[in-house]
Amino acid sequence: MTQTFGIFYIVSTPIGNRDDITLRALTVLKTVDLIAAEDTRHSRPLLQHYGITTPLISLHHFNEHARVPMLLAHLQAGKNIALISDAGTPLISDPGYILVGALCEAGITLCPIPGACAAITALCASGLPTDHFVFTGFLPSQPTARQKKLSTFLKTTSTMICYESPHRILDCAKDISAIFGQNHAVVFAKELTKHFETFFRGTAQAACIWLAENPDHQKGEFVVIIQGIPKTKTAVDTEETQRILSILSDELSSKQAIALAEKITGIPKNKLKEMQFGQKNYTHV
Ligand code: SAM
Repeated sequence: MTQTFGIFYIVSTPIGNRDDITLRALTVLKTVDLIAAEDTRHSRPLLQHYGITTPLISLHHFNEHARVPMLLAHLQAGKNIALISDAGTPLISDPGYILVGALCEAGITLCPIPGACAAITALCASGLPTDHFVFTGFLPSQPTARQKKLSTFLKTTSTMICYESPHRILDCAKDISAIFGQNHAVVFAKELTKHFETFFRGTAQAACIWLAENPDHQKGEFVVIIQGIPKTKTAVDTEETQRILSILSDELSSKQAIALAEKITGIPKNKLKEMQFGQKNYTHV
């Protein structure tokens, strides 16, 4: 007799508005044998709201490894399990990756139940291009690491999406302005699907002003979206800038060359430094 394994469902839950849950998600959560939740106390009110009495077990970053054998054994015994996180789609800046990897290897059937995700919710109403985008999760909390991370996107033509904590949102906006330039287009999507849902769309500099002018503007949950570097800027302008930078660097100190190149091209110093670094490395190869 062949043993039938259970199914592991990855179920998206609302990111604010409780109505943003699918009928399929509700059916699955009602009928599975067990729900693995990031924080059982956090999820209980939502489940109670929908009359779901399925037993809960915690699955968070700190116990995920340890939970794998037990959950796998349940599935191998034919039990169905659903994974939910505190909000949105599990595994998207949320736990579950280790477990899902292990279940894939063990040949368990995985069934995603799609629904809310803050990154996609923000992107679709951002007004920025949606045909190519990169999602980078939470930015590093330390300023230097955050600036370094942001700088890695200086060459990307895709729209960039990240999550940021309200405590660092103003510093994040300042870093974006310094790295991508004051006039670079950004969107700060705040409290999505909730009562105070707000979209700030404008330049990086205007975002800094908007965030600083009222402490309330810094409160809540944020998705930060940064416009990709326009193709013309990376392909054509970059070639011309490299040429200018190269001529100036031959005649002036590194600092002077950068300062003058910024005046000529309007490209921020950080980006020019990166290019200069690239040129030096190239000539040494
Ligand atoms: N798994 C979730 C998803 O699918 O979007 C993300 C979880 S992550 C731990 C939480 C972060 O997502 C928040 O700090 C914030 O950056 C973003 N986020 C979640 N809900 C949001 C909302 N309603 N409005 C804006 N951002 C939100």
